[in-house]
Amino acid sequence: MDPINLFIPTFRVEETLTQIRECLEKGWTGLGFKTVEFEEAWKEYTGLPNAHFLNSATAGLHLAIRLLKEEGKWQEGDEIITTPLTFASTNHAILYEKLHPVFADIDEYLCLDPNSVKERISSRTRAMMFVGMGGNTGRLDEIAGICRQHKLKLILDASHMSGTRLRGAHVGGETDVSVFSFQAVKNLPTADSGMICFSDVALDNEVRKWTWLGIDKDTFSRTLAKGTYKWYYEVVHEGFKYHGNSVMAAIGLVSLKYLDQDNAFRRQIAAWYDERLQGESRIQRVPVAPGCLCSRHLYQILVENRDEVMLALNDAKIYPGVHYRDNTLYRMYSYANGSCPHSMEASERVISLPMHLRLTYHDVQRVCDALIEIVNRK
Ligand SMILES: *Cc1c(COP(=O)(O)O)cnc(C)c1O
Repeated sequence: MDPINLFIPTFRVEETLTQIRECLEKGWTGLGFKTVEFEEAWKEYTGLPNAHFLNSATAGLHLAIRLLKEEGKWQEGDEIITTPLTFASTNHAILYEKLHPVFADIDEYLCLDPNSVKERISSRTRAMMFVGMGGNTGRLDEIAGICRQHKLKLILDASHMSGTRLRGAHVGGETDVSVFSFQAVKNLPTADSGMICFSDVALDNEVRKWTWLGIDKDTFSRTLAKGTYKWYYEVVHEGFKYHGNSVMAAIGLVSLKYLDQDNAFRRQIAAWYDERLQGESRIQRVPVAPGCLCSRHLYQILVENRDEVMLALNDAKIYPGVHYRDNTLYRMYSYANGSCPHSMEASERVISLPMHLRLTYHDVQRVCDALIEIVNRK
């Protein structure tokens, strides 16, 4: 029996190599060239007004917070309301800027619960961090409404949301800034990269300086235009080395071309799981929010005795994942342990079933057969 893994990314190898070859033949693998082409393609695809290509979504989350902090003159210790059920990047990005993550609980979509969020708002709250779990929009529009009402910024960790649409529009338009991940096993794979999309063009201009050590390219190009001092540029910020490169963009351009087709197949796989697992009282499926056309980066269920179920699946050569452990179990967030009971429960019960483009109908049946048998053992 072949193993069935959680994630295996699919690349259109020949087409991707052709794109990479262009970089190599031109002698241009760095910033510019394909990174500009990919930014344009991403704006065209999503309809978002701005996009800047990065070396990771983690870098993007850091910059989202850094730039909003500078713009809003936030002080150290100011608060961002966030979810405990996420990848470490989301909340680390808040700590990088010496702000304080305040954890709110999650709802049935495993996304931030608007009711819990409202209880956590204080005079020091500056922003909300929403994670679209597995591509799900959850109650994003309610959270956006709360942010408008309380004049708070909304940051979307859209790492799972490439291609997710809410009532027909690609996600990101309703936020101040959205950050997408094109890491190796995300649903739009490159090897490592990400995209930051500010709604405000001034912040988009600004972020381009922060991603390349604070070098001001405007000064650089002005000087170039004069034809003298070609080596001269100004350094206006203590910026970072966070920009993306043309080889990653070349891979991303091909992955983007097939994104809608790939996400549609992910939804087909999800439908196969749904068909088999509905009516199984010991398997609780995480629903997709109404109006959400989900990227289906993940297919999540909740079970009792999760760790035992995982081991038994492994015995059948099936290797699911867990997204995620509640972050308040980690040392740096332990001050909030116990404050989000739904998240803690999900953390103990959640399983991500295999979800990738090489799965067949037969594979899905094999996963479901094993799972149903395991959860119904005496
Ligand atoms: C993968 C992921 C990130 C980080 O993305 P990178 O591109 O690897 O930096 C952040 N948040 C969530 C929810 C993720 O799944």
